[in-house]
Amino acid sequence: MGEMDGLEVTECTRCPELVDSRSQIVNGTGPADADLLFVGEGPGEQEDQQGEPFVGRSGTILDEKLRDRGLAREDVRITNCVRCRPPENRDPTTEELENCWPYLESEIEQVDPEVIVTLGKVPSEHLLDRDVAVTKEAGGVEQVELGGGVRDLLICVHPAATLYDSSQEETLDAALDKAAAMADGGSGGQSQLGDY
Ligand code: URA
Repeated sequence: MGEMDGLEVTECTRCPELVDSRSQIVNGTGPADADLLFVGEGPGEQEDQQGEPFVGRSGTILDEKLRDRGLAREDVRITNCVRCRPPENRDPTTEELENCWPYLESEIEQVDPEVIVTLGKVPSEHLLDRDVAVTKEAGGVEQVELGGGVRDLLICVHPAATLYDSSQEETLDAALDKAAAMADGGSGGQSQLGDY
């Protein structure tokens, strides 16, 4: 019903509706040993077409914000709670999130990041297993047991939130400052463009 090869889901038919709506499975990108792991909700139209997470408008914002902090997209790992585009970009259902969870959990375990950054409400609530008021709680760090260990999770607003509400930009900036600082202070030593 579903198969993984390393970090990649190669085939999966667990969610019948998503099998119909997707063009392809969208796996995570970035180093297999990244210090920072960003987790979004699920692929949108661009991601579904290009087969990469965060390559549409939200991705442009995320790339720019990473660059501002001396990080290249290639330095971080970016993935989603579900790997197939839901119809009309609706939120993934609880069942779909659960179906895809073993893949995300395995990715977390294999990448073993210093920090997991949840982008928006869906991934924050999914990984923390509670209601989250993202705007209010953005920048907060919690220790959660995920993917074979207790991990630091940083709550962040979704990059697209800044498109609809410019006051969210400060919230996004502050959370990403924290993410960059946490990864930098980790044992792996995140490589930074500014170092060269
Ligand atoms: N929004 C997400 O949550 N994930 C993507 O991959 C793109 C947009």
